[in-house]
Amino acid sequence: MSKSVRVRFAPSPTGPLHIGGLRTALYNYLYAKKHQGTFVLRIEDTDQNRFVEGAEDYIVESLNWSGIPYDEGPGKEGDFGPYKQSLRKDIYKKYVGELLEKGNAYYAFDSTESLQEMREEAESRGEKFAYGPQNRLSLDNALKLSSEEVQKRIDSGETYVIRFKTLPAQKLFLKDEIRGHIEVDTSVLDDKILFKADGLPTYHMANIIDDHLMEITHVIRGEEWLPSLPLHVALYEAFGWDAPKFAHLPLILKPNGKGKLSKRDGDKLGIPVFPLEWTDPKTGTQAMGYREGGYLPETLINTLALLGWNDATDKEFYEIDELIHRFELKRVHKSGAKFDPEKLKWFQQHYLQQADLDGLVAEFEEILKEKEIQTQTSYTKEVVRTIRERAVFVSDFWDLSFFYFASPQEFDKKSAKKAWKSTTSDLMSEFVDFLSTLNDFSEENLEKEVKNWISSRDLGFGKVMQPLRLSLVGAMQGPSVFHIAASIGQETTLKRIHKAIHHFSE
Ligand code: GLU
Repeated sequence: MSKSVRVRFAPSPTGPLHIGGLRTALYNYLYAKKHQGTFVLRIEDTDQNRFVEGAEDYIVESLNWSGIPYDEGPGKEGDFGPYKQSLRKDIYKKYVGELLEKGNAYYAFDSTESLQEMREEAESRGEKFAYGPQNRLSLDNALKLSSEEVQKRIDSGETYVIRFKTLPAQKLFLKDEIRGHIEVDTSVLDDKILFKADGLPTYHMANIIDDHLMEITHVIRGEEWLPSLPLHVALYEAFGWDAPKFAHLPLILKPNGKGKLSKRDGDKLGIPVFPLEWTDPKTGTQAMGYREGGYLPETLINTLALLGWNDATDKEFYEIDELIHRFELKRVHKSGAKFDPEKLKWFQQHYLQQADLDGLVAEFEEILKEKEIQTQTSYTKEVVRTIRERAVFVSDFWDLSFFYFASPQEFDKKSAKKAWKSTTSDLMSEFVDFLSTLNDFSEENLEKEVKNWISSRDLGFGKVMQPLRLSLVGAMQGPSVFHIAASIGQETTLKRIHKAIHHFSE
């Protein structure tokens, strides 16, 4: 029987989570759920220089808001915790000790200054300095020192790092679930630092130890980690562990396809690149979020799912369960995925139509409250039901429906010119007289009676309907005028027509 699927999302809390990171989380989640597996959140916080206050909470909140809940992780302890690398320091020490013992790693004492000098010297020759099989024996490390000497230097408090001893000129055969087979010659690899002078493991070290100990079966992560794959596989081999399967996801590109989608691109397009709003704790700079921008989580999930994957159909909208059902790593694209702002808007409009009506009403009621509009929930619900198809965001509701709640403050000039001619005021006065005789002001009856009245007078339909709409709405917009009139009621309808007559007679 094959092992049960365990995948992980392993962000470093160095700032807000980019939507590219959220997509990685999503694909991991989809893969886990499709295979009845486990989705782990692991916080990779061993680089203390890059630690940012609040970033971990931000990651957790982003996953929760987007509807990508993790099964194990901070606050959801399972059998493989702790799930934060800063709480696992002792574990890494033990394993690096194992590599030292086996001769796969070594102490190196080279000072930052001497390395910098060598780097500059190489650059001046137009070369790149690498610490590796070709030069390591001439550098300041345990490979050329006796073990007593090494111990002495350590005991005397000298700073050191621990480096991986890359095997010289070996061929590594790697496989990526999306990209296929990759062959790497280890002579291109350098001896990466596994343990830093501050006594903490580097990303590479902690990452593969944790993937092994947490029994991760599939590493699904961004393409930017592909260059690290040879080192990771070499580390698995050095430990004698089975490596998980790897899948590297394509980049999310700017709409024009030229380079990675950045915060600056987002600002230019007016589109967030982060799930939630973020305020940088040091600089105070703000970044937009999908949530605060009024997007629904479903919109973001559908957008991200289709940025780099499809199921070979033309289907454009997915519910999360369908995504779980249809998701396959082999259908993830190799090349970068262009972000399409128009599609995002279209998806948002679609999901707004699908959203729970009561939820939308509750959100709109908040907006109405701010505007000090008193109204009944049942009334607001009927309004939202009527106008939502024209909206992209809940924040559009007011502009689409203000006339259900308040008299228009002005009459749109262009509409007025078209709808209100010199004879219109007299006609509308007669129309008001007629409307005030109606006992049944329901939408259906109103429509029937008004149509009869217009035809009995042999008038064009627009002659009455256009000034009526202008009176009620202030412009040539909005849903059925009969619906508006019936909703605001007979008295308000008559008042608004009077007001228009008065306005245009001045
Ligand atoms: N901590 C790495 C990151 O911030 C994780 C990379 C990986 O998934 O291996 O993206």
